[in-house]
Amino acid sequence: MTDDTPQDPWPDEAPDDLPDNPRELRRKLRETQERLRILEGRLDQRARLDQVDTAQRAAANAVSQRYALAAAGANDGMWAWDFETGELFCSARWRAVLGHPAEDFRTAPDQWLNRVHASDRAEVQRLLEQHLEGGAPHFECEHRILHEDGAYRWFHCRALAQRDPAGRPTLLAGSLSDITMRKLAELQLLHDATHDALTGLPNRVLFQDRLEHAIAQCERRPREDLAVLFVDLDRFKNVNDSYGHAVGDELLREVARRLLTAVRAADTTARIGGDEFTVLLEGLRHPREAHEVAQRVRSAIARPMNLAGQELVVTASVGIALLGEQVDGQPDLLRDADTAMYRAKGLGGGQMALFQAAMRTDVVRSFEIETDLRRALGGNELALHYQPIYSLPELRLVGVEALVRWRRPDGMVLPGHFLPVARQSGLLPQLESWVLEEACRQLQSWKRQKLVPDDLAVWINVSPGHLRREDLLEELDAILRVTRLSTSSLHFEITEDALLADSAETAERIATLRRMGITICVDDFGTGFSSLSYLQRFPVDILKIDRSFVEGSGTDHGSGAIARAIRGLATGLGIRVVAEGVETLDQARFVRDLGCDFAQGFGLCRPAAPDSNTLFERPAALSMDE
Ligand code: C2E
Ligand code: MG
Ligand code: MG
Repeated sequence: MTDDTPQDPWPDEAPDDLPDNPRELRRKLRETQERLRILEGRLDQRARLDQVDTAQRAAANAVSQRYALAAAGANDGMWAWDFETGELFCSARWRAVLGHPAEDFRTAPDQWLNRVHASDRAEVQRLLEQHLEGGAPHFECEHRILHEDGAYRWFHCRALAQRDPAGRPTLLAGSLSDITMRKLAELQLLHDATHDALTGLPNRVLFQDRLEHAIAQCERRPREDLAVLFVDLDRFKNVNDSYGHAVGDELLREVARRLLTAVRAADTTARIGGDEFTVLLEGLRHPREAHEVAQRVRSAIARPMNLAGQELVVTASVGIALLGEQVDGQPDLLRDADTAMYRAKGLGGGQMALFQAAMRTDVVRSFEIETDLRRALGGNELALHYQPIYSLPELRLVGVEALVRWRRPDGMVLPGHFLPVARQSGLLPQLESWVLEEACRQLQSWKRQKLVPDDLAVWINVSPGHLRREDLLEELDAILRVTRLSTSSLHFEITEDALLADSAETAERIATLRRMGITICVDDFGTGFSSLSYLQRFPVDILKIDRSFVEGSGTDHGSGAIARAIRGLATGLGIRVVAEGVETLDQARFVRDLGCDFAQGFGLCRPAAPDSNTLFERPAALSMDE
């Protein structure tokens, strides 16, 4: 007891020690009255507090009844954690959602925390502490809890602490709702947004994310390198065109499966576009390892596939970009691997190429060429040169091949420099439409001026894309009507590649053109994949033996033998033959003796502008008479 504790102001008996002295007695009385006043004040306060308490209790009761009702309706599990007793009180629903027997309402907080999924526990504890320490207005968290059946379920947990006047938490009360269904739906959505529906592989978004993460990791481990492989199927469009999209889809799924077997378990394989796949290779100790995986990828894809009852062989071009090879700036391995893949494609398909910085400048150059070419197509910078084709052995002028040229301010550009860009940028069909129209217009002009024999034909190079164009027949019809030329004046030169595409569409188109009276020639014959069987499937009129076989004919026994074999094959099939690239007298004699029907080459006449006199002169440089 402390000194200021009030003494009992109403003792049962009058105290004996009352002073006799009246002054002293008055002082004592004042003192007692003062004590009485203090005590009355305290009693008053107590009564008021009791009133408040009763009101609070009534309100709390009403709240708790409503709360219980709401809890039952909300289907949520309710809980309260009493920090004084250390007990966790749980509603029947709380126990039910976790598969506990419903009778036991009292448990230890560990029952909850120990059941929280290991990956979520630290976050739950962090948020709890944050709220209890007053750093957050309430506790709220989504986490997984182990159900009695052994599976984890997702819960949304919310709680609020009750505090004593000093602000210390005395109770934490909250709710627990089962959100497993919503969470699974969310996870599914997330999966769908980051994966390719056809193959189930990660898509571009996820690949890019993993790549960025891997680059950041790699920077912390300087002894390791990483690489991106860019895999693009060769001529995939032909598979779709010839066999239909269902087979195309099945092929892509099969490629995805094969890729997964070719790469290492830790590598990320993604499909980032139609027939484009990428692989992220991490933890490389040597660039050689990237080459090895790329090699395995190529071989895996090139194995014959059995799809829809047929055996198909597809090849892939692979570009490789290594992080260690990056010289400066922000690494963009995906773009670089793509660039390298294009380089591999240029090697003829089924090849691989490693990215080098110089390739980037090539890309820039291509882009510049493309921009200029678009302008050239709109203006009058394109021109045609013509190269005569003569009959053998009499060397009569029977045709001219139209060869496109680009007149640039700094000189004449040959097609080898801009056709690949035109092809890649999709400008080729537009360019070829112009060539077709211009060549026909020129032939008509020569004929009108009687500069050429009546039966002279113009030979036009036609790319596969242009050949398949839906409006090609209408276009031809319009041009022939305007120029009043007959279809017999037209020879179309198609490369072996176009025939090898082997699509029903191409075959049908070639047959239609031949029925119309247009002569079909196979250009650069012998340089493609030389699958001669296609000559039976695609009947053609003329083969142009590639100049590489004519070139070596005098000296190289092999080339001469091939030229002879082609001649023999053509005779057997009733096909006429042109010898391309005849430069010397020896070559001219060789191809004549071989029985070639026609010859073309610098030795007879170089390609020239339409107004050049040399075009219609009898070749003087080579006299084949002994
Ligand atoms: P091509 O169709 O095989 O045309 C023959 C090419 O060989 C021409 O090259 C011609 O100048 C060259 N040539 C002719 N005789 C000789 C010779 O005796 N020796 C040598 N070394 N070369 C000779 P050019 O004009 O550079 O054309 C190259 C290729 O570009 C053509 O090869 C053709 O495939 C393509 N091309 C040209 N114009 C067009 C076009 O309008 N459309 C398409 N799709 N391709 C075209
Ligand atoms: Mg040609
Ligand atoms: Mg040729």
